[in-house]
Amino acid sequence: MELNNKSLFKQKCFINGEWLESSSGETLEVNNPASLEIIGNVPKCSITETKKAIDDANKAFQTWKETTAKERSVILKKWGELITENVDDLAKIMTIEQGKPLAEAKGEILMGATYIEFYAEEAKRVYGDIVPDPRPGKRIVIIKQPVGVVGAITPWNFPNSMITRKCAAALAVGCTTVVKPASQTPYSALAVAVLAKEAGFPDGVFNVITGSASEIGKELTSNPIVRKISFTGSTEVGKILLEQSASTVKKVSMELGGHAPFIVFEDADMDEAVAGALQSKFRNSGQTCICSNRIFVHEKIYDEFLDKFTNEVSKIKVGNGLEDGITSGPLIDKSSLEKVINHVQDAVNTGAKIAIGGDVHSLGGNYYQPTVLSNVSTKAKITFEETFGPVAPLYKFSSDDEVIKMANDTPYGLASYFYSRDIGRIWRVAEALEYGIVSINNGLPTIAEVPFGGVKESGMGREGSRYGLDDYLTIKYISMGGI
Ligand code: ADP
Repeated sequence: MELNNKSLFKQKCFINGEWLESSSGETLEVNNPASLEIIGNVPKCSITETKKAIDDANKAFQTWKETTAKERSVILKKWGELITENVDDLAKIMTIEQGKPLAEAKGEILMGATYIEFYAEEAKRVYGDIVPDPRPGKRIVIIKQPVGVVGAITPWNFPNSMITRKCAAALAVGCTTVVKPASQTPYSALAVAVLAKEAGFPDGVFNVITGSASEIGKELTSNPIVRKISFTGSTEVGKILLEQSASTVKKVSMELGGHAPFIVFEDADMDEAVAGALQSKFRNSGQTCICSNRIFVHEKIYDEFLDKFTNEVSKIKVGNGLEDGITSGPLIDKSSLEKVINHVQDAVNTGAKIAIGGDVHSLGGNYYQPTVLSNVSTKAKITFEETFGPVAPLYKFSSDDEVIKMANDTPYGLASYFYSRDIGRIWRVAEALEYGIVSINNGLPTIAEVPFGGVKESGMGREGSRYGLDDYLTIKYISMGGI
């Protein structure tokens, strides 16, 4: 791998400021999803290393929590600056292990740095309250304190920003963190650990362990020292982690699956709606939890939307993300590809028509053609399950009530999108959608300043914004008498 800063490519885990192998000496292979070549190996850590990382994070917590918000802010800012300075190398590492086009990888890294910048500033504003006490001679004081050691389990679709989004908030308020990145994308996590060390975080404050997800996850969730689990991933794994965390009653944040509706009303700005659908559906080859998965278009404008949208999709350039001009990479692995193949076949079997795509890509490997399906049945699997791939199913609707009902007919509740210029409708629909995020006339709602998170089986807790700090804080009520 051609990097300007070769030290960013680490094949060891990072515990207590040291680069370590697994105690068993075992390793895990990491693949490039574009070429299917092996990039390298990382330690296959187990319970032993996880316990060590937790103990070291706990020791570090005793002093890190005593530092001032200003001191933590200075180190965080430095970390964010180093990430920004090294954006080209970090993007290359990400594209090689994750597959997204280089420009998208750069975008993610710069976005990841904005979480750090935001929380470096926001940490100085963790205010408490003094409440008027109705009882004579008494006072009520409310303070906020860091919850303690945090276990952060992160996914492969955003290998950088899911780590910074969680850890910047946790570290800013005085928590220490043990990160378990997805096995497909450990190098992006280890690279930000190199920069965390350089930024000056004391040993044990930020740790990254690679290896068996279920073993590490079990220890992180059941170890009583860990006081908080922050997870981004599938609803299925989220439920396991919730159950496991129950035994020690941990605070939890769960950013789980989504099944975003994207509604185009008859008064929408057509070109804007097409552009928004394209962004929200095909970013990261459709592998984001806020990707629009069900596109509902009003019957009066359905044919026009289908034509224009299909035309835009035909311009997507699929290939190896390292190459110039590529706008869509491969899927992460074989099982993801199989799910996409299965969803499209099932949709076609239940009546859908293929407007474009509909098959594996001639490039082979994990590539799939950007696909638009029209006339999709509400009984098709794709209507109920998250596809996590470059497939856009279109549905026709005729009234607001009907489409709101269809949009809410899912156990998920993360992001939703709609396009309209009618102010009354905008308020009504925004309030009626059962989602944590409602994005109106905007295909890309995620930035550091906003509370990202879902309702229903999409999870709990919020990341980003000032609300994201609450997930790493406990509230203490101090009762003062005898005054
Ligand atoms: P996806 O389906 O998007 O791959 P997963 O929920 O399977 O999402 O994975 C998200 C993260 O959860 C990854 O870091 C993965 O290694 C981890 N993970 C998967 N299974 C478990 C488990 N049983 N316990 C803890 N972590 C897990």
